[in-house]
Amino acid sequence: MCWAALRQKDSGLSSRYRLWGVVVICCLGLVALSVVTRQKKATTDTDRLQVVVTTNIVGDIVQQVGGDHVQVHSLLRPGADPHTYHPVPADLQKIAGAQLVVLHGLGLDDWAGRLIDSSGTKARVITVTEGITPLMDGDHPDPHCWMDPNLVKLYVRNISDALRSVDAPRAQIYSENASRFTKELEELDAWVRARIASLPEERRKLVTNHDSFAYFARRYGFKVIGTVIPSLNPEAEPSARHLSSLVDTVRKEGVRAIFTEDTMPQALAETIASQTDHPVRIMPLYTGSLSEAGGVADTYLKFIRYNVEAIVDGLLS
Ligand SMILES: [Zn+2]
Repeated sequence: MCWAALRQKDSGLSSRYRLWGVVVICCLGLVALSVVTRQKKATTDTDRLQVVVTTNIVGDIVQQVGGDHVQVHSLLRPGADPHTYHPVPADLQKIAGAQLVVLHGLGLDDWAGRLIDSSGTKARVITVTEGITPLMDGDHPDPHCWMDPNLVKLYVRNISDALRSVDAPRAQIYSENASRFTKELEELDAWVRARIASLPEERRKLVTNHDSFAYFARRYGFKVIGTVIPSLNPEAEPSARHLSSLVDTVRKEGVRAIFTEDTMPQALAETIASQTDHPVRIMPLYTGSLSEAGGVADTYLKFIRYNVEAIVDGLLS
């Protein structure tokens, strides 16, 4: 064997060793980087104020006011009905680890009271509807204030006050975010009015699934002429008499659409629509929950816009 061939083999070997060296160093680098990133993420997460909300609609409003400085944990998943929610053990852990708990109030999330008591949390607990004079159904306050963006401005003020008191060093940031989002709510309100202006007044009549549109109707000049479930609580059972009188109303008023909800089955609405002598569309709306992230109604602003477009579409058809 000649020396040249041996040297070539040697240099082949050493370049292979060099290559392995580079690979090993790269891997170590990646491991170190991932440890640093994990540490950084952990710091960021503990840096952020831990806020628990009951509904994801309130969750989005907290996120708008808190920005990157809050981490929002919603107890209700998208599509879950807030009136009938059954808490799970993980909810207790979330509440125990929170610095702020934001409830909706007006009877919507009374189930959260016992959770908070048994969690032993030291979190500040606030109610976003504090200060709102609710519409009443007998002795029961109507909780569906979020269907009116103008009332949501008060939610924003309550959330901003709470964030500023729990996290005083960032008070200025929360105030600025609250002002920006309040302006967006005012723009949304103006947009809804403009969009609805295309509807002749005699068409501004709603038949909905449960009684969740009173605040929306009051704000924008609609009349709720019937509900499939005649109650603020979607668990109530409508009587056969109620359903047959609703079929009469739908016939008599020439109702073109029944608006159903993402959080509830629409079988009863379909039955009513099938018993009329003119076509009635079933138009699903988002009422008690935002859509999944990435969906058509995954923020409060998109939620209202989606509903208004569907209502105008349903009533103009
Ligand atoms: Zn409801």
